[in-house]
Amino acid sequence: MSVDASEVFTGNFTQQEPIPEQAIEAAVAVMRSGRLHRYNVAEGEAGEVALLEQEFAAAMGSKYALALASGGYALGCALRALDVKPGDRVLTNAFTLAPVPGAIAAVGAVPVFVGVSEDLTIDLEDLVAKADQADVLMLSHMRGHLCDMDRLMAICNAHSIRVIEDCAHTMGARWNGRLSGTDGIIGCYSTQTYKHMNSGEGGLLISDDPQVMARAVMLSGSYMLYDRHLAAPDPALFEGVKYNTPNVSGRMDHLRAAILRPQLRDLNRQIDRWNERYRMVEAGLKGTPGLTVIQRPEAEVYVGSSIQFLLLDWSDDAINTVLQRCAARGVELKWFGGAEPTGFTSRYDSWRYVDSAPMPASDRVLRGILDMRLPLTFSVEDCALLARIIRQEVSVVFQQTQAD
Ligand SMILES: *Cc1c(COP(=O)(O)O)cnc(C)c1O
Repeated sequence: MSVDASEVFTGNFTQQEPIPEQAIEAAVAVMRSGRLHRYNVAEGEAGEVALLEQEFAAAMGSKYALALASGGYALGCALRALDVKPGDRVLTNAFTLAPVPGAIAAVGAVPVFVGVSEDLTIDLEDLVAKADQADVLMLSHMRGHLCDMDRLMAICNAHSIRVIEDCAHTMGARWNGRLSGTDGIIGCYSTQTYKHMNSGEGGLLISDDPQVMARAVMLSGSYMLYDRHLAAPDPALFEGVKYNTPNVSGRMDHLRAAILRPQLRDLNRQIDRWNERYRMVEAGLKGTPGLTVIQRPEAEVYVGSSIQFLLLDWSDDAINTVLQRCAARGVELKWFGGAEPTGFTSRYDSWRYVDSAPMPASDRVLRGILDMRLPLTFSVEDCALLARIIRQEVSVVFQQTQAD
């Protein structure tokens, strides 16, 4: 292969596409109306939020949906809806993002970390080993990697563990044909700028369980206006929960719902575009000496909005050299396993408010995880270039380490 080390990438890793024109028009119409609060609707008007919930429930194939202020809020709301109490232990992934243990800690509960395997999913053997420690699992499909959901649900059902799915990176993904978020009792999504639909901040929650959903609606701050929801349980069901469920305000407003509805209609097309880019990078990285590409299982339909690879058993120095050399050519890689948390990256032992036992096998994987965002502002050719640069720089550093 001829290597042109002068190639430099000039794209911006945090630049998403503009909000679609149709969505901008809908947002402007909401502003012109002056009715931004979700329960502020004209006679006979459903409102953007209720319509988004109805459309999202239909898109995910769930009975109920609830729109919220953020993905992190959705996770906290899910825990409260399941009546997780201060001091309760909640199983969750060691490889996840800070808002996940943060949501558990925010309800006074105690995260119990479950290890990560080399395919970047939850270590199911470790889950079995820890299954008797909690009756809730907050399962984070971190960076869009789905574990064997059939096996996971079998383990959790056998131990009466209720599963909350964190689908921040799996909106539209599937396991064996089933949409991510529909296996657990609750599925949570984020519509923050870096996820699969962009409303700046925002979250969604789905469930088929009427009791759980009635609680979630009350918790979200519905006052006694729950009958204005179009994707919530029958109002009669709220009789049993309306007096004893606290209001923890975290609603979505019409403005954000208005810009999300057109994006939801476009989600499947966007997923195809992400995956075209993902596959281009993946193909370009395959066979790079010293680099492990993550195998995606047959049963998984993923959303390739970011890509991960492993530099397993590399020294910190060598990984840092790769990061610097790639950065010098415009390629921004995140090192999730870096000892010091920076930017969005951190690992379980950086959340020092949690007592965590060391997990050597997981630490080995975490230390080697590199991550790159693939915003849709990158062309497929951009993705081929990104792979070429990473391949070259990883190869150079790998050869040096072999020579030492
Ligand atoms: C973004 C993210 C969240 C939280 O979503 P916000 O909308 O930012 O609160 C939760 N889990 C994971 C894995 C995420 O990436």
